[in-house]
Amino acid sequence: MTPTIERTEVLLVGGGVASARCARALRRHGFEGRIVLVGDEPILPYNRPPLSKELLRDDLPDDLVLAEPERWYERRSVEVRTGHRVAGLDLDAQEATLDDGSCLRFQRCLLATGAEPRRLRVPGAEHALLVRTLADARRLREAATSAAGGASVVVVGGGFIGLEVASSLAALGLRPTVVELGDALWSGALGRELSDWALGRLDAAGVVVRLGAAGTRLDDEGAWIGDELIEGAFVVAGIGVVPRDGLPADAGLVVADGIVTGGAHRTSHAAIWAAGDVARVDGRRVEHWHAAREGGERAALSMLGLPMSPIPPPWVFTEVAGSTVDVVGIGEPWTAERWVRDGVLAYTNEGQLVGAAIVDSAMPAERAREAVAAGSVVDLAWHAR
Ligand code: NAP
Repeated sequence: MTPTIERTEVLLVGGGVASARCARALRRHGFEGRIVLVGDEPILPYNRPPLSKELLRDDLPDDLVLAEPERWYERRSVEVRTGHRVAGLDLDAQEATLDDGSCLRFQRCLLATGAEPRRLRVPGAEHALLVRTLADARRLREAATSAAGGASVVVVGGGFIGLEVASSLAALGLRPTVVELGDALWSGALGRELSDWALGRLDAAGVVVRLGAAGTRLDDEGAWIGDELIEGAFVVAGIGVVPRDGLPADAGLVVADGIVTGGAHRTSHAAIWAAGDVARVDGRRVEHWHAAREGGERAALSMLGLPMSPIPPPWVFTEVAGSTVDVVGIGEPWTAERWVRDGVLAYTNEGQLVGAAIVDSAMPAERAREAVAAGSVVDLAWHAR
């Protein structure tokens, strides 16, 4: 039987913050048409940053991480279909087929399907817990609270997930060892200075870090590096993510490690936009919460034909052993790095400011963003006073 085709003005594919912010911005700018949001997790769009931080350290209710409370969607007439996946996309017909066989014809569509964790490719890889969804975070908290106080645990990957999880596990009284492939934390992406600072913090918190090391096998006892066993009551892995861009690629959209879009988030199809971890916007894919939220909002402006300001420098916040770190301009190549003052690190290229790291709120990240947008170390140093 041919499915009935429903019609919607806007279809938001993906149940994360990019879709939620897009819906919010559309309504805020007076859009009154039908909006349908489809997400494959069984919960309303939520914020992922707390999963490796507050939600791991404390027993907190799911509601606390929701991007918007349930009543917001009702009040703003945004229809949310949780627990459903878009299984097929027909670009010519502008139709999406859901996994239950239903079909939605859209005028405009946002693809914000996010990314999924890269899996270890070693024997016993299935022993590793991953952290991407709320369900993953609940499993990890369960493992952490079931482990005896002072138990050793292994964290594979010394990137954002690995360091946040290791910091939270140490705060819970466990003894994590981080196994990182690169010779600096965050695989060197944030520079030697910040890596050295973080190594000091982690050491003081009781976190052991093994740089330039890769687990070769996992089992019930922990992780093996060759013949050496790193004991662990459990193993967590955070070794990066891959964009969930199979659906648009199959449909014929231009995809290159993410859905390719221009600065206004429009894809190679005029009725389709992309935002969040899955989008390669103006040549760059940024896998962070701020970018997903701002990207969803920008896509909404673009859908409505409204003007928008230039894309601001990327902004990431993270935590290392109780310290907060804001990094602005991540991803730009730099040739030099220096602390402008306590807690404020400047990344420069040929003397021009291209990035900054701010430790423990030594200055507002928005000011650092302005300084980086202006390319001025002087501005950064001035704001930092
Ligand atoms: P990530 O930040 O890319 O870090 C992964 C780290 O694991 C890299 O340093 C990588 O080194 C290393 N690695 C790769 N394979 C390894 C192996 N076999 N053994 C040991 N180390 C290995 O990715 P993530 O920490 O998994 O985070 C996942 C995503 O969530 C990222 O997009 C991240 O930006 C995002 N996230 C963001 C935040 C935040 O904004 N605060 C917090 C959590 C997560 P190489 O690069 O050398 O391979």
